[in-house]
Amino acid sequence: MFSDLYNEGVQKIYLDYNATTPVRQEVLDAMLPYFKNFYGNPSSVHSLGQETRKVVEDAREKIAVLLGAEKPSEIVFTSCGTESNNYAIKGVAFALKNKGNHIITSKIEHHSVLEVCQYLEKKFDYRVTYLPVDKYGIVNPNDVEKSITDQTILISIMHINNEVGSIEPIEEIGKMTKEKGVIFHTDAVQSCGKIPLDVKNLGVNLLSLSGHKFYAPKGVGAVYIKEGTKLHPLLHGGAHEKNRRAGTENVAYIVGLAKALEIAHRDMDGESKRLLNLRQKLEDGIFEKIGSVQINGNPQKRVFNTSNISFNCVEGEGILMSLDIEGICASTGSACSSGTLEPSHVLSAMGIPPGISQGSVRFSLGHYTTEKDIDKLLAVLPKIIERLRAMSPLWNK
Ligand code: PLP
Repeated sequence: MFSDLYNEGVQKIYLDYNATTPVRQEVLDAMLPYFKNFYGNPSSVHSLGQETRKVVEDAREKIAVLLGAEKPSEIVFTSCGTESNNYAIKGVAFALKNKGNHIITSKIEHHSVLEVCQYLEKKFDYRVTYLPVDKYGIVNPNDVEKSITDQTILISIMHINNEVGSIEPIEEIGKMTKEKGVIFHTDAVQSCGKIPLDVKNLGVNLLSLSGHKFYAPKGVGAVYIKEGTKLHPLLHGGAHEKNRRAGTENVAYIVGLAKALEIAHRDMDGESKRLLNLRQKLEDGIFEKIGSVQINGNPQKRVFNTSNISFNCVEGEGILMSLDIEGICASTGSACSSGTLEPSHVLSAMGIPPGISQGSVRFSLGHYTTEKDIDKLLAVLPKIIERLRAMSPLWNK
């Protein structure tokens, strides 16, 4: 499994696929010709330019079909999920500022949504409602409906939460927002490539995705913009992407993005079943071998690859460091907020007290995870927890 170019010699057990994924060999192979051989600028009129223009448009069409979009022109390429979220939210807020100033989102969104909302509140006097979630991290569609006012211009609710894997009721919210005529954005960065997405079934006007979460490189993403949805551009310059995102298209990365999404869809069925079984093995093993643990997130409405587990009376950071010494990479939550000792805003919103959330670790499985990896984790983790608990004044010895 690990014989791919980029993994040669690397013996790590990687259980942090929600943070990022390696580029798959097939994706890299598809991209390589566009660095040296086919390097034309897609905006150039000569044949070298026209070649890459065609490649970009083919990729756009492929992605549009895989997302169930009506037209390829509804896909705009960006540099990442963060840019897609910024563009969707600021784009609508600035385009519709004469219509209203109210935005609805949830307390468990990624920072690339929350920080944008806070920026709009502080700098431009928008009003933002941050909806609560239940103990499993799920937003109640009734809360969304009750929060809508005649000033509401945008609702932004994520599809799958990056820390606990909860799957949000996007279809239900989508139906309701359509009836109310409010623009609906979903951050699908953690769902795209993992589960089938159909923008029409989801009922969204805007959807953000990011390549490095499904085996394309870091630094490429896209946003689906339903035809007719008005957005103020984030970047000004040339007329690229039909005046919606200035900047020469990143041809090789766009090729990689489309290829990775195609592969994700090709392998989705088998991969989701395989990873669900591996996660079950991981969770059963942890419950069997280690006491005083809890799984954070919804038992049913949880994406198959994610397991967020709290270990009582230990610090998540301590567990991560000990696992790293054993060659196992996991995370305490979102990659962006790890490194801070603040309790996770997602676990706090789920009502999990800091004492418990600080002992939480997110294991996220992916394409290269094997049964042997889980066996190794289950062999070392009980000893790590036992050692850390023995040093903890909170642990009842
Ligand atoms: N949204 C979610 C739910 C994420 O998990 C992430 C990354 O972790 C992002 C947005 C940001 O994506 P990117 O790293 O491509 O900027």
